[in-house]
Amino acid sequence: MITLVRRAAVLGTLGATLAACGTATEAPRAPRPAPTASSAVPSRPAPPGPPTLAPGPAGLTPVFEHGPRAREKTVALTFDADMTADQGPRAAAGERFDNPRLIATLRRLKVPATVFMTGRWAEQYPDQARFIGRDPLFEVANHSYSHYAYTDDCHGLPTVPKERMRSDVERAYAAFEKAGVRDAMPYFRFPGGCHDRAALEELATTGVTAVQWDVVSGDAFATDADAVARQVLDGVRPGSVVVMHCTRSAAPVTEEVVRTVVPELRRRGYRFVKVSELIGASDDRR
Ligand SMILES: [Zn+2]
Repeated sequence: MITLVRRAAVLGTLGATLAACGTATEAPRAPRPAPTASSAVPSRPAPPGPPTLAPGPAGLTPVFEHGPRAREKTVALTFDADMTADQGPRAAAGERFDNPRLIATLRRLKVPATVFMTGRWAEQYPDQARFIGRDPLFEVANHSYSHYAYTDDCHGLPTVPKERMRSDVERAYAAFEKAGVRDAMPYFRFPGGCHDRAALEELATTGVTAVQWDVVSGDAFATDADAVARQVLDGVRPGSVVVMHCTRSAAPVTEEVVRTVVPELRRRGYRFVKVSELIGASDDRR
């Protein structure tokens, strides 16, 4: 723990950022615009959009943490592609916020997964963003543009002012589109997982479902892949959402962890699904 804390301190803001993602609970895409009268085909209704949860009390943004426990042994691996708005110079200096090997391993093992991407990450790695976004194995969801926190006092992250929360979410969708990602999902993961009533109120009109998790992998700054794998295997229950990272510089053992946990969870009878499938199976869906 001391080691982890010291490493996080040395690594600075990204440290706080990723530790935040992996230790707290973390969680949108703009709603699909309804077809206009001129574009709708009268005899054939538009296909339904991705499943979302019904709004929470008082119309607040709904928050999803895990799928049904009793129906089937399903589990969703989620990967936060973190990059903070002010980390461009570090990327220019050679720091890698991406993890192409992890994505290749998920493809090789045929593991469906949900990638919560920051808009800044999509700007930095547009080819990878498009590659992930166009592979039906994956779905791209929103992890904000800036990776700034939506509450005060969130693991040392800078804070998005309330009046810029919606535009921070929308700017991420714009960055995905610019990179060539089609149909990003209406799911939002709060940076650091930090949210409060004001943030849920502020995002209510965007139509997103906030997605947290119930299993913390602990992959942020971990150097012991076995320990992370154990934590995942000990934590997973039917319907679980596991949070991991797709950011090589700060989550360097994640690909190795995936190679361990995927075959073991399959041996235990689990089927890997995307978050959309868990939300679609939820009793609280819209
Ligand atoms: Zn994050």
